[in-house]
Amino acid sequence: MNQYDPKSLQFNLSGMGCWLTLLTTFLLLGSVGLGWLVNGFLVLIGLALIAPAIGWLGFRWWLRRNLVEDKCPVCTYEFTGFNGTNCRCPSCGEPLKVEQGHFNRLAPPGTIDVDAVEVSVQQLED
Ligand SMILES: [Zn+2]
Repeated sequence: MNQYDPKSLQFNLSGMGCWLTLLTTFLLLGSVGLGWLVNGFLVLIGLALIAPAIGWLGFRWWLRRNLVEDKCPVCTYEFTGFNGTNCRCPSCGEPLKVEQGHFNRLAPPGTIDVDAVEVSVQQLED
């Protein structure tokens, strides 16, 4: 029995033989007139390779745009938050809102800022 088989040897060359076989198959398919199939497959492979790279770049761009590093307005502790979100200061626990690259104090809903007005006793008697 002949143990030497060039085909199985080619397949056993890790990766390389596989790609050569794939290429040969593509060339064969192309020569038979199935070029569109080959092109479609190549486009698919290209997309599969490019998509994660684009996704990673997009994610980094988004992160750089949305990551805010600022100081807490209450205790000046510096930390990082996401733009447009609410968070708590890890140091003093103050609820904060991240807006335009800065941390702002977050007043609970329904809170109205009022200024105390001094009313004289005479005014009340009138
Ligand atoms: Zn704080």
